[in-house]
Amino acid sequence: MQRLLSDVERFLKQQQELYGDLFLPGSDHTPTSTQSMVKKTHTDEEQNLFGELKPPVPAGPGYPSEPWASCATLADLDKTICTCQKCGLGSTRTNFVFGVGNPQADLVLVGEAPGAEEDLQGEPFVGRAGQLLNKILEAINFKREEVYICNILKCRPPNNRDPLPEEVSQCEPYLWKQLEIIKPKIILCLGRIAAQVLLKTNDSLTAMRGTIHDYRGIKLMVTYHPAALLRNPNWKRPAWEDVQKLRREYDAMKTES
Ligand code: URA
Repeated sequence: MQRLLSDVERFLKQQQELYGDLFLPGSDHTPTSTQSMVKKTHTDEEQNLFGELKPPVPAGPGYPSEPWASCATLADLDKTICTCQKCGLGSTRTNFVFGVGNPQADLVLVGEAPGAEEDLQGEPFVGRAGQLLNKILEAINFKREEVYICNILKCRPPNNRDPLPEEVSQCEPYLWKQLEIIKPKIILCLGRIAAQVLLKTNDSLTAMRGTIHDYRGIKLMVTYHPAALLRNPNWKRPAWEDVQKLRREYDAMKTES
């Protein structure tokens, strides 16, 4: 037996001389972790973005190399980015609207951009649409403080126009970072624009509702924007179905964890 083992070792040593590093028992070349033997399936950028989470679905770029990208808390991130002037909205805003709620929330709600009242108060969803959102949350037994609420854009577009692609591309990485810090289990997109931006699609709201999407390993659901419900009360019924489904998903996730 001993003889067989030394034959094997000699053979491996020969192979090492011929072909380079091999895993030899007791040799200095033993890999220190499985990592060096595992083929990477995604880039460093994608790993940095969400740590242990899945690579982006669909693939997205990493963070710009700017100081805020290494912030570890929401408070620190807010402090670091609240003077942002990367797009034109920096010069028209009254307040930078970072986000509000529980930094450890399992549920994050993502809207489009601050409106007039949000711009004045520096908090998302505090106007009429926000009041309706609070009622919707209450109806499915969530307190506003229990979840986290934020937007794709942190500054108000003049006259509440749709966000421009340039504004989204500058601002969206801030949202990625918020999500990386919070690590929610479920995201609810409020309205077509938030969902299209996160899912990188041009699909209609109708096509995106009713499905549980995967956003970088996080469940993502889509419903009507509360402002749309104020304009068209006929959509309240389907929105109610969406949020009941959301509640069921949330409860199931809690039971599993
Ligand atoms: N609409 C949004 O999308 N976000 C807000 O914060 C307010 C209104």
